Amino acid sequence: MEYYSKEISRLIEALAGLPGIGSKTAQRMAFHILNMPMEQVQNLSTAIISAKKNIKYCKECYTLTDDDVCPICQDQKRDHKTIMVVENTRDLAAYEKTGKYNGVYHVLHGAISPMLGIGPSDIKLKELMTRLQKDVEEVIIATNSSLEGETTAMYISKLIKPTGIKVSRIASGVPVGGDLEYVDEVTLLRALEGRTTI
Ligand code: ZN
Repeated sequence: MEYYSKEISRLIEALAGLPGIGSKTAQRMAFHILNMPMEQVQNLSTAIISAKKNIKYCKECYTLTDDDVCPICQDQKRDHKTIMVVENTRDLAAYEKTGKYNGVYHVLHGAISPMLGIGPSDIKLKELMTRLQKDVEEVIIATNSSLEGETTAMYISKLIKPTGIKVSRIASGVPVGGDLEYVDEVTLLRALEGRTTI
């Protein structure tokens, strides 16, 4: 990219490092940013830095939030005895969008993948087991139906079984390998309602 000045190349490279942004899109974004009013550029950069600095894990469910405890965990109208286990905060948002789930969540921040060298201790599994020492009636495992998601579901169910807490798995209406956030709300609801005890 020598045909651009050093500063422009630097901006393009930084943008191209984001997921789903190819070199062409990065170039388009870079020139768009350079054409934006200074105030707007400042807003964008402040939003990025402030989010990175201030967002933390919820102390209860480990989703990403601004507060010590996220609004869902703070909500006393929700059923705190039902915990849905998801891989990430985006999956949590997908279930929240259905507006039909009244329990709480647990965010693993990943899935077990022997291929990628991600083991049980690399995700928030220990934290889930600690939560289960409180009064919990059901754990719904809503990890993706990818190989990693299934491996994680099996692993968790084996861990929880001895505690006597009910463990269920969402129905396989979710496309194999499909990220939950891209699945439509009706499919998610069906998967949740059709869950089976494992
Ligand atoms: Zn929470």
